[in-house]
Amino acid sequence: MDKITMTTPLVEMDGDEMTRILWKMIKDELLLPYIDLKTEYYDLGLTCRNETDDQVTLDSAEATKKYGVAVKCATITPNAARMTEYKLKEMWKSPNGTIRAALDGTVFRAPIVVKGIEPCVRNWEKPITLARHAYGDVYKNTEIKVPGEGKAELVFTAKDGTQIRETIHEFAGPGILQGIHNTDKSIASFARSCFNYALDIHQDLWFATKDTISKKYDHNFKDIFREIYEAEYQKKFEEAGIEYFYTLIDDAVARVMKAKGGFIWACKNYDGDVMSDMVSSAFGSLAMMTSVLVSPDGVYEYEAAHGTVQRHYYKHLKGEETSTNSVATIFAWTGALRKRGELDNNQELTAFADQLEKATIQTIEQGKMTKDLALITSLKDVTVLNSEDFIKEIRKTLDTLS
Ligand code: NAP
Ligand code: MG
Repeated sequence: MDKITMTTPLVEMDGDEMTRILWKMIKDELLLPYIDLKTEYYDLGLTCRNETDDQVTLDSAEATKKYGVAVKCATITPNAARMTEYKLKEMWKSPNGTIRAALDGTVFRAPIVVKGIEPCVRNWEKPITLARHAYGDVYKNTEIKVPGEGKAELVFTAKDGTQIRETIHEFAGPGILQGIHNTDKSIASFARSCFNYALDIHQDLWFATKDTISKKYDHNFKDIFREIYEAEYQKKFEEAGIEYFYTLIDDAVARVMKAKGGFIWACKNYDGDVMSDMVSSAFGSLAMMTSVLVSPDGVYEYEAAHGTVQRHYYKHLKGEETSTNSVATIFAWTGALRKRGELDNNQELTAFADQLEKATIQTIEQGKMTKDLALITSLKDVTVLNSEDFIKEIRKTLDTLS
């Protein structure tokens, strides 16, 4: 059988621990036998990041800008324990944070829906994709624990020295204070990433804030989205037959619970933090959640939403059998291959990505799955497979499809 050829390389970002083990298995079993895989490889494993003073992460982000599509394995974000474990020169920053900053992108997370893993919310028939604005607000705050009586003011000093001053509160006794900010530039990038991605996956876009209470701060989010929508996207949305829908955050939450799914929900930073955990756990499992970083100018980086599955890796190192779910990592690859195929007009590659996703879902629906899914499935007569056998089983299904 002739292998599928590629014209432009994918940026491949390798990672750490158990997901690094899965990464190789997926390539060997599910990709290399079928595709003449062209990638520009960057090793974002912690050892290599440490050796290159994290230059490899910056280089991989630059390559992503150049080629437009990347696929990333989960990576360790160092903490104190990792400093000793990997004898690190420095506590290197989260690669995801570095890449997101370089691409100025927004992260979209979507569950992979299969029969037999039913969402807790019965009416959610289709995935809900959550987009979180990943800059500012309470995540870049300045706080004061007010010791006692006094006046709190909000002051902005312009470059020419002129000031805007507002009283926040006249304290009669101890209390608390918080200063938060955002920038029009970041909000606009967030808006464009959301509108582009909605057009890309052909789904409605929902956005919500608390603009009735926060008449300047949240209202600014609403206004920037509206202005950009009307100036740049409204026509395209109408042509595509999709909708941009703005409402208040509490109304959005109520509607989401009653909805069927199949739309993108854009959230401010804090709402996105909270709601993405709610939506993903209601859909079943973190191991069935994909994630894609989309830049406002249309660059894509695909990955799994989960981490490096450290506990399983230590078992693996001890020679014990693991049953680690590779579905989200497989879908990171298929997402990237499909996007590469679309950009290069390579229909074979796009079709292969579709087939591999279908084979993965079918394998699970036939009752063959990893332990994490076996614990939550409604299917009877389930076979629990180890990490490697699950991937091999997907290959068998794939071969029956083609
Ligand atoms: P994690 O790797 O997501 O794993 C947490 C637990 O969730 C696992 O112990 C496992 O539960 C379950 N799990 C997650 N993915 C699974 C899968 N594919 N198959 C089966 N079970 C799965 O999170 P963590 O342990 O908090 O973090 C480990 C490392 O990952 C950290 O160093 C962190 O910095 C990094 N991380 C990276 C990313 C990223 O690169 N995007 C994201 C998050 C975390 P059981 O142990 O109960 O089986
Ligand atoms: Mg969170």
